[in-house]
Amino acid sequence: MIRKFLLLFLLPAFLLCQQQAPKEMKVIIDAGHGGYDAGAVSNRGTKEKDVALEIALLLKNYIENLSGLPVQAILTRSEDKFVPLIDRVSLANKSEGDLFISLHMNASPSRRDTGFEVYFYDSTGDAETSAVAKRENEPNGVVDSKDKNNPLYILWDLAQNEFSKESSEASDVIQAALDGALNENSETSLKLRNRGVKQADFLVLNGMKMPSVLLEMGFLTNNGDEEKFKKKEFKERYAEAIASAVRRICRKFDKKSETTVK
Ligand SMILES: [Zn+2]
Repeated sequence: MIRKFLLLFLLPAFLLCQQQAPKEMKVIIDAGHGGYDAGAVSNRGTKEKDVALEIALLLKNYIENLSGLPVQAILTRSEDKFVPLIDRVSLANKSEGDLFISLHMNASPSRRDTGFEVYFYDSTGDAETSAVAKRENEPNGVVDSKDKNNPLYILWDLAQNEFSKESSEASDVIQAALDGALNENSETSLKLRNRGVKQADFLVLNGMKMPSVLLEMGFLTNNGDEEKFKKKEFKERYAEAIASAVRRICRKFDKKSETTVK
């Protein structure tokens, strides 16, 4: 009798547990700047905050509807409004995100500088990467007072160091996906130079308790880059490439968490 009970009830329950649905991953998509903080602005008036939001919205759609994985995409802003860096970090950490992607457009004194760069957090950097971080940390020439004086930053200081390896891996995957989509078998008008994976002291990444990446998607100070980001086809291809990278990263991290549980 006991044996029958075991077979009828416990065995199916045991088998069900073995076939658990994959864990829902949460990806936080951060469109840089917003509201009065336009970020970089091109000679022709294209604003970084607008390009970042467009790609963020496309990316959310690709991740949730086309990735084929149980992934929820959470936006730090879905409209043209200013969100302090501290609130972006707070939202991501409270949401217990598995991956944070911050989207930005680059600017340079040299109008010839072109291409995309993928960053992960490091407290040191060379002159070039430090200048990029400074511009992103102080978009209006000063650190926002809400960010600078917030005690949470002291609490979260260097939280990101714990995730250096995963953030570096995620950066590599995103770089490879973008390179594949934009440079391999791509018509010349949609090609974008790959400037590589770099490290810098970004305030928005410092307090993140999850693997985190900041993407400088292209240069608004370069006419060619700016033109590309006006094309619907280019923006869709760009967002789709990041989404495919997210799919790979989520699979990778999911496997890791399974192995650590076992
Ligand atoms: Zn920016």
